[in-house]
Amino acid sequence: QKEVWAQLKDEPTISKDGTHVELVANIGTPDDVQGVLNNGGEGVGLYRTEFLYMGNSDFPTEDQQFEAYKSVLEQMGDKPVVVRTLDIGGDKELSYLDLPKEMNPFLGFRAVRLCLERDDIFRTQLRALLRASTYGNLKIMFPMIATLNEFRDAKALLLEEKENLTSEGVNVSDDIEIGIMVEIPSTAVIARQFAKEVDFFSIGTNDLIQYTMAADRMNERVSYLYQPYHPAILNLVNNVIEAAHAEGKWAGMCGEMAGDSIAIPILLGLGLDEFSMSATSILPARTQIKDLSKEDLASYKDELLSMSTADEVEAFIREKTNQ
Ligand code: PEP
Ligand code: MG
Repeated sequence: QKEVWAQLKDEPTISKDGTHVELVANIGTPDDVQGVLNNGGEGVGLYRTEFLYMGNSDFPTEDQQFEAYKSVLEQMGDKPVVVRTLDIGGDKELSYLDLPKEMNPFLGFRAVRLCLERDDIFRTQLRALLRASTYGNLKIMFPMIATLNEFRDAKALLLEEKENLTSEGVNVSDDIEIGIMVEIPSTAVIARQFAKEVDFFSIGTNDLIQYTMAADRMNERVSYLYQPYHPAILNLVNNVIEAAHAEGKWAGMCGEMAGDSIAIPILLGLGLDEFSMSATSILPARTQIKDLSKEDLASYKDELLSMSTADEVEAFIREKTNQ
C-alpha cells in the first residue's frame, strides 16, 4: 500500500475516466509545508493563520506575519496557497484580546465579524498578505461569511490596503484570487448570488454541518446529529458547486469531509474541483480517486440528493464503491 502511494506522489490526481481534481492540504504553520510536499500535495487549500496569533503573547506584527506568509509561499513555489484570514473569537480565545464572554460563542463575535469591527487587526494581516503575494501563488479567503455585505466590506479593505501599499512603492501581485469559505447555511443557500462576486468558494464542512444540523461540533451528546452525509448537507454542497460553475468559478472543500473515503466519491460526482485535507490523507485519496469514474458517480447525483437519510446515502455509496 505504502509503495502504491509513493508512486503517486508526483502524479496529478486523475479519475479513472480522466477528470483532474486538485488534492491540496490544510496547514497551520510554515513548518507544515514540508509535510505537504512530501505527501504529494498540489497546493495548500487552507492555511489557518490563527495559529500565529494563538502562539503569541501579543498580536503578531505585520513583519512577523509577512515572514510566515512569505515562507509558506516560497516553499510552495508556483503551487496555489489559499490563506484564510483570521478566524478567531468565540471558542478560539486570545489571551491578549479581551472579549466579553458569550452565551453562544459559535454564533457570536468571531472571524470576519471581529475583523470588520477591529479593522486595525485586519488591515495589519491584509498588508502582510499583500506584501507576501509576490513570492508565490497566493489566494485569500474570508472565514464565516454570512452575508454579501461582509464579503464586500472585507474585499474593500483588502483593495484599500493594496492601494496604500502601491502608493508606498511596495510591489503587490495583480492576480490574487479572493474567495470565501462557505460554512454558514445562508451563504450556501444563496451561493448563486455570491458566485457573481467571489473568485472561488471553499466549503468549510466542519462548521457548515454544525450550523445546518444545529449540533455543536464539540458536544458529544449531540454528535449523532453531526452527519456529513445528511442529504441536507449534500444539497447545500451541490448548490455551491453548481453556483460556482455557472459563473465559471471553482469550488473546493476544506472541512474534514473532503478527505473522507465515503464523501470523496460523492463530491467527485457532484463536480468538486479541489479537495483540501490533512497532508497524510492526500496519497490515500489520490489512490482512491484513480479508481473512480466521475461519470458513473455523477449519474447517481439526483438519486443521492433526493435521499432521506444519511444512512441511506452511506449504504448506497458503500455498495457502489465496494467499501
Ligand atoms: C471548517 O469549518 O470546515 C473549517 C475548515 O474551518 P475550521 O475547522 O478551522 O473551523
Ligand atoms: Mg470553520
